[in-house]
Amino acid sequence: MEIITTIDGIRSKVREWKTKGFSVGLVPTMGYLHEGHISLVNQSNIQCDRTITSIFVNPSQFGPNEDFDAYPRDFKRDCSLLESNNCDIVFCPDNSEMYTKDFATYVNITSDMPKQLCGKSRPVHFQGVCTVVTKLFNIVGPDKAFFGEKDAQQLAIIKKMVADLNFDVEVVACPIVRDVDGLAKSSRNAYLNAKQRQAALVLSRSVFCGKSLVDEGERDADIVLAAMIDIINSEPLANIDYVEAVDGLTMSKVRDISGLTLFAMAVNIGSTRLLDNFVVEV
Ligand code: AMP
Repeated sequence: MEIITTIDGIRSKVREWKTKGFSVGLVPTMGYLHEGHISLVNQSNIQCDRTITSIFVNPSQFGPNEDFDAYPRDFKRDCSLLESNNCDIVFCPDNSEMYTKDFATYVNITSDMPKQLCGKSRPVHFQGVCTVVTKLFNIVGPDKAFFGEKDAQQLAIIKKMVADLNFDVEVVACPIVRDVDGLAKSSRNAYLNAKQRQAALVLSRSVFCGKSLVDEGERDADIVLAAMIDIINSEPLANIDYVEAVDGLTMSKVRDISGLTLFAMAVNIGSTRLLDNFVVEV
């Protein structure tokens, strides 16, 4: 496995691969890798001849009072995990490689999509995500890019951006990977102490309860949401940011469950903001 830090370095490597006819998969990450990330690498290895994983804690997707500085980092461990999972290249640019001093161009979706759900409390987040993903697509030129359904709004926004801007890349969605007790894997789980880790199980319990209500035939989103919210509110350490049912494509609120519907939540456990969700198509 090669570690590459420069844009020129990645470009010449990908050029070499493409002349040999290899397809290239990209897995964008912010590092501190876990089995969720590795499931994306595995999918890329299955679907593409070569896999590049980017590790870049992207400053432009963090608000001024968010955890950019504290975000967990362990580059050595990440590299050994990636190497043992047959990743071909780690692309780990530093901030100045990605954002020159006079950087001034951002990619933004102008509909309400990025303003819903996480966008309400993180107003600059999706602009930062769209910008860095655009840059990674332009730097790497992948045939396919792999994203987790864990970040469902991010996935929907990236699919929309790729369609609107005609990126020549296939976005592949990968299912949420969970710990055995149900908690969705997340780099931010590292912030939780033992008590908080236990409390965090209300997210997945709420997701499983909501999903089974819909599977049993409930079609009133408010009834499903009320049951989900009750479970979260039963945990004193949990503070709801949002629990909502939205159209799976536009991210606008729905009351009747029909077509593609996303039930998504952000819940603070102590000061750690965790996400979970499920999607239904009825
Ligand atoms: P991050 O490093 O948090 O930016 O995540 C990088 C990619 O991994 C994103 O596409 C995430 O959706 C995906 N991801 C993170 N956690 C999980 C998980 N538990 N299951 C599946 N994909 C995940």
